[in-house]
Amino acid sequence: MNKNKFRFNLLIIFILIKTHALVGQVIYGTNNYIEYHTGTLPIIISVPHGGLVAPAGIPNRTCNNPTNGTDTNTIELAKQIDSSFLRMTGCRPHIIYCNLRRTKIDCNRNIADGACGNAEAEIAWTEFHQFIETAQQTAQAAYDNKAIYFDLHGHGHIMQRLELGYVLTGAQLALSDNVLNTPEYIGQSSIQNLVSQNVNGYTHAQLLRGDFALGTLLAQSGYPSVPSQQTPNPGPLNPYFNGGYNTANYTCYTPGNTINGFQLECNFMNVRDTPGHRRAFADTLVSVLLTFLEHHHELSVAHCGISSQESVPEAKSPTVHPTFLDGNTPIQISGADLSGKVFRIFAITGQLITSGKVKPDNTIGVNSVFSTGMYVLVVDNGQRRFAWKLFKGS
Ligand SMILES: [Zn+2]
Repeated sequence: MNKNKFRFNLLIIFILIKTHALVGQVIYGTNNYIEYHTGTLPIIISVPHGGLVAPAGIPNRTCNNPTNGTDTNTIELAKQIDSSFLRMTGCRPHIIYCNLRRTKIDCNRNIADGACGNAEAEIAWTEFHQFIETAQQTAQAAYDNKAIYFDLHGHGHIMQRLELGYVLTGAQLALSDNVLNTPEYIGQSSIQNLVSQNVNGYTHAQLLRGDFALGTLLAQSGYPSVPSQQTPNPGPLNPYFNGGYNTANYTCYTPGNTINGFQLECNFMNVRDTPGHRRAFADTLVSVLLTFLEHHHELSVAHCGISSQESVPEAKSPTVHPTFLDGNTPIQISGADLSGKVFRIFAITGQLITSGKVKPDNTIGVNSVFSTGMYVLVVDNGQRRFAWKLFKGS
């Protein structure tokens, strides 16, 4: 390929990334009752109980003694999580919203209980679930089966803490780590694939409540969570949501589904109650999820941030030179001393190509064989993550 053609192709790639990342596409279901906000991150979020639309044509549900309470502000919280991802990575997660009020439909139940036989509700229910499947297939294919799914809820329990549901019951979480690490209990978990996938070889119990469990990272960031290292199980007398229909059906708890996931039940105070609290919590959650992906999968989504970093350059950001990989010229970092820090180079798909430490002279030796395309160099100095795009021409 000649140089001009190569530059033109790069331009197209950038336009595609920019369009995809910054605009995002919304696919509306029938009557706009369901919305699928398409994304490019390995994160899928469904929001079944936040809707307020209550059309008279759909009768209120009465079948099978339904629960009808709205999970207040969960749509608003999901929108804030979307914004935080966009701001922090330049890309969006996949989000599926149900806009109908829970008196009309429950998208976290099977179709019989959720739609109570109403044809319009059944269409909405089906669309909601088909969008989850589409999002999961897209994300799993793009990220080598490393995507994470969660079903977002708000609970009314008195104890103000996040409840992470991995399908395991509160009584099961009260069992010892040794018991939870047996195949019998791993096989009942919605993160069972992560037990064999995670790069550090963490056990099931460690993934539920060890150093780098989601609950532990959230609790360390000021959001008490169960299970976590701080609170390994809910306690025998405390109510706890362990994951409903969606968590069971759209995670590897169900044979044939490869995705790891959980139910996130958010307390109200300090998490869902005000726009400021929602924003602060969303920022923390996104940061924790990115740490989780990097730590357990060595999966960086830094390449998603390229477009936003280009449009909003930060002052005094360090630079690298050259940005074209030739297989032997070291890459010099300027503007920050990152010597001794770990660097990683990822392909545009998120696959780790090579890693090592920045040399004492603040350079990175690159001896790997790269095929033509765009790469992302990531260096974390412990406080901030720096990312630069690199290219390999033909
Ligand atoms: Zn709910």
